[in-house]
Amino acid sequence: MRYARRFVAGTLTAGALALSLTGCGNSVDPIERLGRKTAQDVGTPSASPSPSPLASAGASARAGTPADEAYRKWGLTAPVQYAPKPANKPQLPKATPGKAAVVDRIPVAPTEKVVFLTFDDGAEKDPEFLKMAADLKLPISMFLTDNVASSDYGHFEKLRDNGSASTINNHTLTHPNLRTLPFAAQKKEICGQQDRLEKRFGKRPTLFRPPFGNYNDETLRAASECGISSVVLWRASMQINNFQYAEGSALKPGDIILAHFRGPSELKGATEIQMTTRMLQRIQEQGYTIGRLEDYV
Ligand SMILES: [Zn+2]
Repeated sequence: MRYARRFVAGTLTAGALALSLTGCGNSVDPIERLGRKTAQDVGTPSASPSPSPLASAGASARAGTPADEAYRKWGLTAPVQYAPKPANKPQLPKATPGKAAVVDRIPVAPTEKVVFLTFDDGAEKDPEFLKMAADLKLPISMFLTDNVASSDYGHFEKLRDNGSASTINNHTLTHPNLRTLPFAAQKKEICGQQDRLEKRFGKRPTLFRPPFGNYNDETLRAASECGISSVVLWRASMQINNFQYAEGSALKPGDIILAHFRGPSELKGATEIQMTTRMLQRIQEQGYTIGRLEDYV
């Protein structure tokens, strides 16, 4: 049986998302299920997994790819399924001139069961995670903070270049609550990291995530002046074993998922791999495929 853990989301106010409490903070769920077998977690026999609900989900078949062969190695009972790249990007809400757009869910069709993986900050740099992400070809949109990620930007470069078309995006220089800062200081945090990332990785990001999901009008103006087209928030936040949802108790089509580059010290002993395996299990249980955010934004 899966755990239908329900979380109460607070009131959504402009620039101060209730879900910000789960973003880049220390709130994690208990780890009571650590050590349980994957098959028990998903409620299917381990020797002969039942047909995945994803099998008929219309996901792109990548049969024979490393992802298909590797899933068991990483604790999954069915292959990870990926959404095909859409022929056209969906129509996102129009941005106001001079301001970056804000997106927390991709407006896909209600029947298009696709979600998107984003990983934030960059404190944990587990080489085993690089193997997992490469084996499964996970398309990860990274949002890196300079003061924790820069001790080994090479780690994230490997993650970007593993064949998964993962990307590196902006999450400020020092992870402040931008709403407490004046425009000039916000711009320094955003443009400063744009410059660092461009210099290190050869490409100036177009996506930005404000720490804690906290932003205001000045953030959107500053981001735009720094070359950012979209401010990316999220609708579901991965903890240790399960998601916290901004609303409801299940994923919805087009949800952007927030996870973190976190290790055992921040996950009550769980590893980044264990957290990621559970996240993929939760996605599979709910019958979702994984899309590449940049194919839609
Ligand atoms: Zn963060």
